[in-house]
Amino acid sequence: MAQLIVDIKKLKHNIQFLVQYCNKLGLKITGILKGPGLDATIIHEMMSNGIDNVGFSNLPMENNYDEIFHKKPVFISLPSIYEISNIIKYFGTSFHSEISVIERINEELITQNRSHNIVLMVDTGDLREGVLPENVVDIVKKIHEIKNFKLNFSGIGSNMGCCAGMLPNEDNLNILNELAVQIEMKLGLEVKTVSIGGSVMLEWLEKNRLPDKINQIRLGEAIFLGNIPTINKKHIDLHDDVLIFKSDVLETNEKKVDSLKICGKDAFGCTPKFAYTGMRKRAIMNFGISDTYPEGLQPLIDGLDIVCVNSNYTIIDFTNSHEQLKPGDFVEFKMNYMSMLQGFISPFTKIVYKQPADSING
Ligand SMILES: *Cc1c(COP(=O)(O)O)cnc(C)c1O
Repeated sequence: MAQLIVDIKKLKHNIQFLVQYCNKLGLKITGILKGPGLDATIIHEMMSNGIDNVGFSNLPMENNYDEIFHKKPVFISLPSIYEISNIIKYFGTSFHSEISVIERINEELITQNRSHNIVLMVDTGDLREGVLPENVVDIVKKIHEIKNFKLNFSGIGSNMGCCAGMLPNEDNLNILNELAVQIEMKLGLEVKTVSIGGSVMLEWLEKNRLPDKINQIRLGEAIFLGNIPTINKKHIDLHDDVLIFKSDVLETNEKKVDSLKICGKDAFGCTPKFAYTGMRKRAIMNFGISDTYPEGLQPLIDGLDIVCVNSNYTIIDFTNSHEQLKPGDFVEFKMNYMSMLQGFISPFTKIVYKQPADSING
C-alpha cells in the first residue's frame, strides 16, 4: 500500500512564500509539474495562491483539460516535431531552440487557426537546450521572417543547474538580460518574457540583484521539496515535508547477512553491497522501484536504513533503531526529486491529499 501524501497546508505555505518572495523581485512564477502532472488539486493550489501559470515537460494524455486549466499551460520541454499538433492545441506557450520546429509550429497554427506564444531558449552555459548567445538576435530575426507569420514571439529563457550543473552568476544572467535588450534595440521587438529556472536560482537571489529584464522564474523542486537542487540545500523558509511517502511492513525477521556467501547479482544485475553483516533485523516493505525511487527516500525515524531494493520490495535494516517493526506497521519517508517523480507517475502509488481540516483531528 504505497501512498504519496500531499500535505496541502504545507504546500500552500511553500507556494505563498515563493510567490511573495519572487513577486517582490519582479518575477512571476511558472510552477513546474514534472511529477504531479495533471494533478487538479495541486494545480488548483498553485493557481489560487498566486502562481502565474503552470508548466509541463510531458504531453498529458487526457483530454479534459478545460476543467483543470483556466489559462493554457506552458510546455517547457522542446516539442517533438511529431507532437506539434497537440502542443498548440493544449498549451499557450512552448519553449524552443530549433527554427525548423518553430516553422512547423507556425504552419500548424495556420491549419488549426490558433494563436501560440514561443520562448526561445538560450544556452548560457548549462549545455542543455538552447541556441548559443551569439546567434540569438539573428535567430529571432529569422523567426520573424517566417512566411505567413502567425505565432507570437514572447521572449527568451534559459535553464541552469540541470546538465552541466552550472550555477547562476552575474555573467550568465547578464547574457540573458543583454540579449533581451539587443533584441529590442536591434530588431525593435518587444521582449515580454525573460525566463529563468529552476529552483537553483533561489540561492543566488538571496544575495544578488537580478538584472532588470528578467521577469519570470520557473520553479518545481523548491515548491514540492523545499530544496535547492544542484547545491542540494534545504531552503530555510520552506517545508521539506510537503510530500511524504508511506507504506507498510510485510515481513520482519532477523537474518544472517554473510557477504562471503553471497556472490551473485541482485534482481537488477548489480553486485549487492552490504553495509552491515551478521545478525540483522530486516523488514520487507510493501513497495519497490515500481512505486517510487526507493533509494531517494529518507525514513522519518532514526536508525532505519534502506539496504536492498527490488521491483516490488524495499528492505529496511532496523537493527539500529529503537522502533520494533512488525507486519502492518507504517513507515514514513521524506522524498527526493527522483522519488517524487516516480511516486507521482507510478500507477501503484496512491496520491492522498492531507487537507488542512484533517490535521485538526490529528
Ligand atoms: C525541470 C525544469 C524546471 C524546474 O526545475 P526545478 O529545479 O524543479 O525547479 C524549470 N525549467 C525547465 C526548462 C525545466 O526542465
